[in-house]
Amino acid sequence: MEIHAHFSLKNHNTFGIEAKAKKFVAVHSITELKTVLQQNPTEKKFILGGGSNMLLTQDIEALVIHVDLKGKRIVKKEEDFVWVESQAGENWHEFVLWTIDQNFGGLENMSLIPGNVGTTPIQNIGAYGTEIKDTFISCEALSIDKQENKTFFKGDCHFGYRESIFKNEAKDQYIITSVVFKLTKKNHAINISYGDITTELAKNNVTNPTLKEVSNAVIAIRQSKLPDPKELGNSGSFFKNPILLKSDFKKIQQQFPEMKYYDISETEVKVPAGWLIEQAGFKGKRFGDAGIHKNQALVLVNYGGATGQEILNVSKNIQETIFKTFGIHIEAEVNVI
Ligand SMILES: Cc1cc2nc3c(=O)[nH]c(=O)nc-3n(C[C@H](O)[C@H](O)[C@H](O)COP(=O)(O)OP(=O)(O)OC[C@H]3O[C@@H](n4cnc5c(N)ncnc54)[C@H](O)[C@@H]3O)c2cc1C
Repeated sequence: MEIHAHFSLKNHNTFGIEAKAKKFVAVHSITELKTVLQQNPTEKKFILGGGSNMLLTQDIEALVIHVDLKGKRIVKKEEDFVWVESQAGENWHEFVLWTIDQNFGGLENMSLIPGNVGTTPIQNIGAYGTEIKDTFISCEALSIDKQENKTFFKGDCHFGYRESIFKNEAKDQYIITSVVFKLTKKNHAINISYGDITTELAKNNVTNPTLKEVSNAVIAIRQSKLPDPKELGNSGSFFKNPILLKSDFKKIQQQFPEMKYYDISETEVKVPAGWLIEQAGFKGKRFGDAGIHKNQALVLVNYGGATGQEILNVSKNIQETIFKTFGIHIEAEVNVI
């Protein structure tokens, strides 16, 4: 385990931004992780997974700890369910594919989301009608200051839309080291009602899909819609879809009757941020090497040489324009560092 000084993070963030870590270390075991924390008690710490949900706007004046803990195992078998544990540093998509290969159901709609397993509870990742909270049992986390282990059960995590305790009360206090999911062994709850999954399956004449077929459909849709960070730097959806009280939304709707929305509760609606950004004329726009993707208005991109600050400026421009135009505040989903 080597600590590197002035380490470039360009290959450790999917935006492909050049920024340096004051110090950088990759840890491959809990023992290594505890040692690093114990040996550097006063150093500021920054935890790094796959770097797919962050915009680096400056160098990181901290010890960057890249959590690279590997391994997965079945921890419990029940008649209909199986409990699977993955270490935090496993790649999420590879883990999903592994569960599908075992015929374990529950994660297939979240195929091809970048990043690591240990990060999934932080923003309660989700796609195509499924969120991590639907299968999450617990995660193990190490406190940064005392190196004490704590188990966070689902009820402790305060999961919400791209939210959890780890983005709020427990922010920057814990390092998640492993996660346990409860998956189906049979009678899989196949969910193809969301987005274009049914259309994609119909192309292949599939009417009663297996887990693998759902996963393949999700992969095909995502590949057709989202830019691959290896080819065009990005961090997925840059903004969250704003949630509004129905009473507030009705007033806005009087002025913009064509505004898209989804009912999410008796009192709230969700407005697609991508639609707002597109209506405000940003889709496909480019400002130097920073821009808005031509097919996905919610995705900000780095055409190569953009700095984090340039991408942040574009995001602020979008936020201000949306607020001026519609009176709606859109919040970043990506962690701005
Ligand atoms: C092309 C693309 C598509 C995407 N699609 C989706 C999608 O459909 N749905 C979705 O929800 N997200 C999506 N994302 C966002 C991203 O993939 C997820 O948020 C993912 O969970 C981030 O994981 P990561 O390991 O890369 O996190 P990182 O970017 O490394 O870290 C994110 C935050 O978590 C902290 N952190 C990292 N690891 C740990 C740990 N072990 N313990 C404590 N804190 C930690 C970091 O300090 C940082 O604040 C997409 C991203 C891209 C690039």
